[in-house]
Amino acid sequence: AAEEGFDIEEVEGAIEEAGHGPLPVLAVVGRPNVGKSTLVNRIIGRREAVVEDKPGVTRDRVTYEAEWAGRRFKVVDTGGWEQDVLGIDASVAAQAEYAIEAADAVVFVVDSKVGATDTDEAVVRLLRKAGKPVVLCANKVDGQSGEADAASLWSLGLGMPHPVSSLHGRGTGDMLDAVLEALPEAPAQTFGGAAPGGPRRIALIGRPNVGKSSLLNKVAKEDRVVVNELAGTTRDPVDELIELGGITWKFVDTAGIRKKVHLQQGADYYASLRTAAAVEKAEVAVILIDTTETISVQDQRIITMAVDAGRAIVIAYNKWDELDEERRYYLEREIETEMQQVAWAPRVNVSALTGRHMEKLVPAIETALAGWETRVPTGRLNAFLGEVVAAHPHPIRGGKQPRILFGTQAGSKPPRFVLFASGFLEHGYRRFIERRLREEFGFEGTPIHISVRVRE
Ligand code: GDP
Ligand code: GDP
Repeated sequence: AAEEGFDIEEVEGAIEEAGHGPLPVLAVVGRPNVGKSTLVNRIIGRREAVVEDKPGVTRDRVTYEAEWAGRRFKVVDTGGWEQDVLGIDASVAAQAEYAIEAADAVVFVVDSKVGATDTDEAVVRLLRKAGKPVVLCANKVDGQSGEADAASLWSLGLGMPHPVSSLHGRGTGDMLDAVLEALPEAPAQTFGGAAPGGPRRIALIGRPNVGKSSLLNKVAKEDRVVVNELAGTTRDPVDELIELGGITWKFVDTAGIRKKVHLQQGADYYASLRTAAAVEKAEVAVILIDTTETISVQDQRIITMAVDAGRAIVIAYNKWDELDEERRYYLEREIETEMQQVAWAPRVNVSALTGRHMEKLVPAIETALAGWETRVPTGRLNAFLGEVVAAHPHPIRGGKQPRILFGTQAGSKPPRFVLFASGFLEHGYRRFIERRLREEFGFEGTPIHISVRVRE
């Protein structure tokens, strides 16, 4: 490496940075208008979290990546709240519940100017039940005079209230230090908590009415439901062990699928939150598409969520029993144009109604998980990169030719690569390398990450 112009520390640093596994998840919960979105913006250090804050505008992005004191984690923002038919307490509780479920730690935001309300108390009860580490954020303490208000929140019984002004940044650093103490290094939901060799975790996702609950019922009926999880809690079981193809799988967040909460407003938002929560908890996402309808922007958003979360992916084209020849013709064209971003995902054409091709689901899931876990030895990778670069060099730019010098796989689940180059690699060339990597090593059913380090 040294001869190539990178020093060892730089290389090791790049590998460590690129090679992180799944990140722990922090949920930010609280009543409307306490300042959750403002706080999330502070935490992620960007302005994009607060989208249009007009009532009625549904926010579908709920998960963001953040870094504090050199540690990376994900933040789930539950600020896209809308009051709905359930009424304020139930609505806040519902959104908090999904977020807490998927989280490794929770920031509970209270408006210190208002003090603790009944709704806040309801969230406290949820937090107690969930048993996750909680950091209490006494928000809107814009100056010294607000400290007393913050102190009164000791009454919530959640430990020390951290006086914070999300608007001005006061106190957020100290609070984030406390957050880092509460957050595990790796997400317990995804990896730490699962015994090695334990059941693999599947999230069944897709927009409303694609057939999630039908599919779940089908697989749970045909192959016996082994046991319901979370015995001893008062909550609905959320994860279910289901035997499929002779293997026991854990279907995550099935309560959200089975329990049909039809809300008149905010339904899309809850659906997004639930999808994000399920994806966070799973290793593989089975994304259902309703083939009787045009593939929509909403389908794309769900796919993007799973891809961005770095999960293994299987696409199940459902309601195949309904298709006539004409629809099938158009469907294939839609798949070609609209499903580009997951062209690498295994595909099954199923019917949750008739059970068509159910037996193909498990092999597809196994393929995707195998791709997700693939590790390419450094020697093989570099032999391959050498050939590719020799056969297809980067175009010359400004009299110079950027070259890939060497590379390594820094992590897996999903595969993450770092390439070290002598100059900036254009987007098109990166795409070309990704395509060739896929051709050579498979990676069926998995997103892959490629980061490039350029020699200074
Ligand atoms: P959310 O509904 O909980 O996501 O709340 P928002 O982040 O949308 O904030 C609600 C309102 O409180 C907005 O008008 C914010 O500007 C304001 N706000 C948020 N944080 C603070 C703060 O630390 N101090 C003050 N004074 N206002 C704040
Ligand atoms: P979910 O909202 O994604 O859980 O969707 P459901 O499972 O509730 O299904 C929505 C509707 O589609 C119901 O009327 C189902 O009977 C129907 N449905 C689900 N799967 C199939 C299928 O494979 N074929 C047909 N024809 N209908 C289906």
